[in-house]
Amino acid sequence: MGQVYVAVDLETTGLDPQKDDIIELGAVRFRDGQVLDTFSQVVNPGRPVPVNIQQLTGITQAEVDRAPSLSEIASAFRRFIGEHPLVGHNVGFDTSFLKENDLYRFNPEIDTWELSLILLPGLPSYKLGRIAEALGIELVDAHRAFADAEATMHVFEALRRRILELPAATLEQIVTISQRSEWPLRTVFEDAARDAARAWAGRKAGPMRRTGPLFEELQPLEPVEHPQPLDVDALAALLEPNGPFAREFDHYEYRPPQVEMLRTVAEAFNQSRHLLIEAGTGTGKSIAYLIPAVAWAVQTGRRVLVSSNTINLQDQLYHKDLPDLRRLLPFDFNVAVMKGRNNYLCPRRLRNLLRRPDLNETEISVLARILVWLPQTETGDQSEITLTNGKERAVWQRVCSDSLTCSPERCGMRSAEPCFFYRARRKAEAAHVIIVNHALLLADVATENNVLPPYSYLIVDEAHHLEDATTRALSVSVDHAGFVARLRELASTGSEQATIGLLADVVTAVRRSSCPPDKAEALVALSEELAQQIPLLDMRMYEYFDALDRFLMQHFGHKYDNTNYDLRLRITQTERVQPAWVNVEITWDNVALILKRFLASLDTLIKRLSDMGNYNISDLEDLIADLSAVYRALAEAYDVCNSAVFEAHPEIIYWVRRSQRTGALAINSAPLSVANLIEQHLFIPKDMVVLTSATLRTNNSFDYLRQRLGAHEAEERVLDSPFDYRANALVYLPTDMPEPNHKSYQTRVEETIVALSLATEGRLMALFTSYAQLLRTAEVIRPQLEAAGYTLYVQGEGGSRQQILEAFRESERAVILGTRSFWEGVDVQGEALSALVIAKLPFAVPTDPIVAARSETFDSPFYQYQMPEAILQLRQGFGRLIRSAQDRGVCVILDRRITSKQYGRMFLDSLPDCTVLRGPLANLPQHARSWLQNKTVAEPERALFTGYENYMPEPPPPEWWE
Ligand code: SF4
Repeated sequence: MGQVYVAVDLETTGLDPQKDDIIELGAVRFRDGQVLDTFSQVVNPGRPVPVNIQQLTGITQAEVDRAPSLSEIASAFRRFIGEHPLVGHNVGFDTSFLKENDLYRFNPEIDTWELSLILLPGLPSYKLGRIAEALGIELVDAHRAFADAEATMHVFEALRRRILELPAATLEQIVTISQRSEWPLRTVFEDAARDAARAWAGRKAGPMRRTGPLFEELQPLEPVEHPQPLDVDALAALLEPNGPFAREFDHYEYRPPQVEMLRTVAEAFNQSRHLLIEAGTGTGKSIAYLIPAVAWAVQTGRRVLVSSNTINLQDQLYHKDLPDLRRLLPFDFNVAVMKGRNNYLCPRRLRNLLRRPDLNETEISVLARILVWLPQTETGDQSEITLTNGKERAVWQRVCSDSLTCSPERCGMRSAEPCFFYRARRKAEAAHVIIVNHALLLADVATENNVLPPYSYLIVDEAHHLEDATTRALSVSVDHAGFVARLRELASTGSEQATIGLLADVVTAVRRSSCPPDKAEALVALSEELAQQIPLLDMRMYEYFDALDRFLMQHFGHKYDNTNYDLRLRITQTERVQPAWVNVEITWDNVALILKRFLASLDTLIKRLSDMGNYNISDLEDLIADLSAVYRALAEAYDVCNSAVFEAHPEIIYWVRRSQRTGALAINSAPLSVANLIEQHLFIPKDMVVLTSATLRTNNSFDYLRQRLGAHEAEERVLDSPFDYRANALVYLPTDMPEPNHKSYQTRVEETIVALSLATEGRLMALFTSYAQLLRTAEVIRPQLEAAGYTLYVQGEGGSRQQILEAFRESERAVILGTRSFWEGVDVQGEALSALVIAKLPFAVPTDPIVAARSETFDSPFYQYQMPEAILQLRQGFGRLIRSAQDRGVCVILDRRITSKQYGRMFLDSLPDCTVLRGPLANLPQHARSWLQNKTVAEPERALFTGYENYMPEPPPPEWWE
């Protein structure tokens, strides 16, 4: 007979077990899918139940008032659960309340959420309802304790059946890696393995992984010797009003700017010219560049790389635009998406990690997910499994493809496992169009083109992000935990006090080999000597980071402990001459002395091992690759820290960052300028580079972008949006809005959002430059909006950005508040987004180390650097309002500086040609309502601005991005 379990679920007044109370308990006792007994009880918490909880659960105040208190039913509930394992969805939440109320002590806990992450890879959501739906389980009355407990039981039983369907080798691996751990799901897999063993008796275990060739037989693209130029007219005809696109798509709109862009890009292919194309929202630029790109690649046998900044655009290109072209173009073509190397599973590193005897619970949970997914995946792409936090992502970093440890020749010679990264690369070599993101494009540039197949034609979409992406690709961050983790890879103490790690592996492998005794002993002695140095190195590094922390404490004073943001301190000569910096220097000196010697010895060990190929040392190549990876990581840490403390490179920016959440420190470096790199590696060697975006110009000029990206020789083209902004977009500039630093500013922002939301019946998005301001606003406006029947969605309050946007799109009367990531890439077409509030002009934080360092390279940093960046950002934010020719919307800019400062004119001039209205805040709701009802604004009311000729420099604004 099987194990008895109890599925539990609670409803509570809130999320905090110390402050909130239980209002309903539901439980089902069951065995082998059969219900043995049930428990369902509403509980009186002795306090009012919040309205939103009443709405969510359907439990009314009257219902709890009539119910018994928790103390009255506690012993019945304790008896019900006994000592059986508790099964719950996000069981930690339920048990935290049960423990707090002394309802439970030592029962094992089984989380169906974690089990689902393992057994159902790739679900878009792991909420109970979504999982039940995926498993075909009916969940009626969700958010009532008993219904949820019952559904949890069914989900658990369905998941247990899934375990029994796993390949025998997969199940065996999961049991093996967890057998010495306290992992709560261990017993579930062990029980299933026993059941499976009975069912499989007499059957042979199949292979754990699908086997296959390391490198598939795909033919790389062959360049045509004498290619013909593109027939530009024939390509343009595809988009004509009676062309194939018009015939294929019911709602096709002929857009002259799109055709013009297609022609311009096609000519650039023919003439090998570089281009900067700003194409306004709605141009349809992806189709406009993809048609000539595909045609060129097919006609000439020369691949074209298309780079985007966001996954959204990559998805659109790969899943929508290119399939459309495949249907409509009279020739076939291949497309490949390549992601950064770290997105692909490395079977060799996975094998190595699975062998470790000291895996912790997070590692086991993630490895179990990978082991279940591995036989199913074609791509080995991490996005197909779900990693929920930083610790889990850190585990992935230990099994993903990594340039430091990768050795394709060795893997290729002996492995039957598929190498996902090289498989993707082979596919890319055979593709006409390769889609990448900016990070990969730049990683390839930074590694002398050893990631992507060679290419000469490049189209960069969302090119306004290229500088940031390049900066990120060339940045390095060294933190204490990461440094120590690298040391631990070499040697650490295992569960039975034995030394484990790569150095112990060397000792074991050498002793078991046919290596001559003198050589073996020398290697063992060197390995042991290195292992002995690790505790001292660890301690010295700790002292160094501690000295840095003290320096920060002194520098920031009271702000050190009283901030909601990470602290960042740029390290310049000014910091290096501070008296307190001496301690940083001394402690670094102490590290450097040992670390240098340590690196030299490690290098010697790697070299000596490399000469031992004839002595049958097991896994020698893996050991060398892994030791080399640790060597390079430690050497990089040495270089960054040493330069930051002593030998600053003038072209590199250094800073220390202290996490507000964890208190952890990291030393960072980034390039001062990326223009030279982009020019040398892209514009000069490539035959054609097209940079395009809806926002490349500032103050109607490409000069800023040219200078930032080294695009000196590129031709420029501006294609206006086909949207009629004057007819459809109203920009409202309040005349009585206080300056952002005025004490009444925040109140006005809150009042305006509420009043405008009521006038537009929601459908409103407010964009902030500071998360703190967003939260303050949410706190004040939420009760008012909810009382009026509106739903408020707040960035960061549960759910990913995508989920929040989806919910907003589908809601009738909804308001959404977002900060940085919402200023771009939000595409809500139609009436769902009709009003946009811009709380402040989006200036960068001037003390940000990169902003501060780059500012110093300008004569007038505010006008030459900070303002152009802010203009680009404002244009992006404004672009959220009108997403189709039919859209109509209102944008209110609540930053008075746009009219009170001379520089405000430059922001306004950068926006599309809209209808602009100035007036008091009180009139905004009325105007917004009329505008959205398709009423135009009377001509005399339209705004006229003071002349730009009176322009005078202003001091930098006081409020920034935070
Ligand atoms: S070739 Fe590199 S990425 Fe592929 S399996 Fe081998 S080590 Fe891993």
